[in-house]
Amino acid sequence: MEEADTLKLLEELRIKAERCTKCPLSATRKKVVFGEGGVRLRVMMIGEAPGREEDAQGKPFVGRAGKLLDEILHNLGVGRENIYITNVVKCRPPGNRPPRRSEVEACEEYLLGQFSAIKPRLVMLLGGIALKAILGEHYSITYIRGRHIVKEGVVFLPTLHPASALYNPKNRELIEEDIRKFKALLDELNQ
Ligand code: SF4
Repeated sequence: MEEADTLKLLEELRIKAERCTKCPLSATRKKVVFGEGGVRLRVMMIGEAPGREEDAQGKPFVGRAGKLLDEILHNLGVGRENIYITNVVKCRPPGNRPPRRSEVEACEEYLLGQFSAIKPRLVMLLGGIALKAILGEHYSITYIRGRHIVKEGVVFLPTLHPASALYNPKNRELIEEDIRKFKALLDELNQ
């Protein structure tokens, strides 16, 4: 699919999501955080749900955890602009609680739509909620992080959620280690 066609499909889906009332999160959100980023490399990062700052701005990963992620990506020479970043649910759960299973299921059509438009080759899963929502409830982020899994031709690499590194330097080291691996996988795919 041409890049322009991908962007057109994503835009149509974004417009639909912005009017979405399929789950109760629509009642408390300020803005729908659909996702953004480059699609040419067909690489995605998927987190859990928007936080307060994301809800206010309508953009993914712009709060403190997002800034930490940007810093790690920058330090390791990975351009955020080349990655399409989104979340499993597109509206903020009140008080930043984890999204409920029913909310993840209600929002699935948008994530599946993003997958079918972008056709990602490499997907980094940021945290346990994204891991379980996409690869299955039986996975544990503690055991699987840093190990890539190939499913239906897509390489998935789970890591910890960047928010977990805000007060825990050890978690930051683990995320850095995983993003180094992400970069190596990307270089391999681009050869
Ligand atoms: S979280 Fe998803 S399903 Fe729920 S209202 Fe927002 S866009 Fe719709």
